[in-house]
Amino acid sequence: MAYEITRDYIRTGNSRSGQRIGTVRFIVSHDTGNPGSTAYGNRNYFDNQQPSASAHTFIDDKYILEIIPLSEKAWHVRSNVTGDNSRYGANSNDAAIGVELCHGGKINFQQAYNRYVWYHAYLCDRFNLNPNSDIVAHATLDPSRRTDPINILRTHGISWSMFIDDVAEALRNFNGATPLAPAAPSAPSKPQTSKPPASVVKGTTVSLPISEGDSGPFVRDIQQELIKAGYRLPRFGADGKFGEETENAVMKFQKDNNLSVDGLVGPVTLNRLQEVNHQRVSASDFPLPSGVYRRGDQGNAVKQIQRALKQINFNPGSIDGIYGPNTEDAVKRFQSMYKALADDGIYGPNTRKYIRMELDD
Ligand SMILES: [Zn+2]
Repeated sequence: MAYEITRDYIRTGNSRSGQRIGTVRFIVSHDTGNPGSTAYGNRNYFDNQQPSASAHTFIDDKYILEIIPLSEKAWHVRSNVTGDNSRYGANSNDAAIGVELCHGGKINFQQAYNRYVWYHAYLCDRFNLNPNSDIVAHATLDPSRRTDPINILRTHGISWSMFIDDVAEALRNFNGATPLAPAAPSAPSKPQTSKPPASVVKGTTVSLPISEGDSGPFVRDIQQELIKAGYRLPRFGADGKFGEETENAVMKFQKDNNLSVDGLVGPVTLNRLQEVNHQRVSASDFPLPSGVYRRGDQGNAVKQIQRALKQINFNPGSIDGIYGPNTEDAVKRFQSMYKALADDGIYGPNTRKYIRMELDD
């Protein structure tokens, strides 16, 4: 099984310095911590927003998307952590490829995971790395701040060692069933007969602005961002087609955010949309009750639910501790983002789990 790799690089700026990376010594595995945000959603966020952080590759159920050339540095691990230096003798940003798993929302986890595994094997093959020693989780390097991707894998019943085994298995397929050398600092290089994996460069490029009449995965991303920001698309939902309903939602969003109201999604509107949806917070600031709550309930637990919903931009009205129609509506809107949740407006363990994921960075 081979997958396509799409190379669609972001422009240079804070996220992409253009500095050359040295010898690639290892891989740092991440997840985006932003449920529902797709590979292209991330690409466009980094391209427009240019935060001082980045990763080389974003993977969802449709794309393996390299947004920074593998010959350049990306900023995916804080340089003051020491685990990378002690393990590999280098800062991650100077010697590692950063790979992000996109998950949640409408992303099919299994499809995304299969691509994530395959791509790690591809990198091991390309840079002659050993999965057992040369792949490290971001959480392992920066345990006080990060849980990625160990937490999200665990949520899906995959332990770190299972993941590594899956990568090793995929790599054996690249090599034509040659067993891997055991982990050792000076493991001999793999047989030179290993064939490079088949990859097709598609290079889809999206040009802004996006407007009525456009369609495709990028339009669907925008629609999902609109829904997340509280602009409902009740008739057609996130269908990937930019019609009148989407245009009206865009104009309403522009009006609410004091942008010029033209119904076109250009860089300014896209930035603002992503700003509204991608604020990074800590889940520990937003405790959530573990029971079941519904319309008519009152009290501090309801207040906690309201605070969390507000934080992730599902406005529940006033934070009054009363589970009224506005709170119920916010819960429904949130639930409508996830296939796994019934859109019943009732807060329970499942909804709690997804709200926590959304809060988690
Ligand atoms: Zn990370």
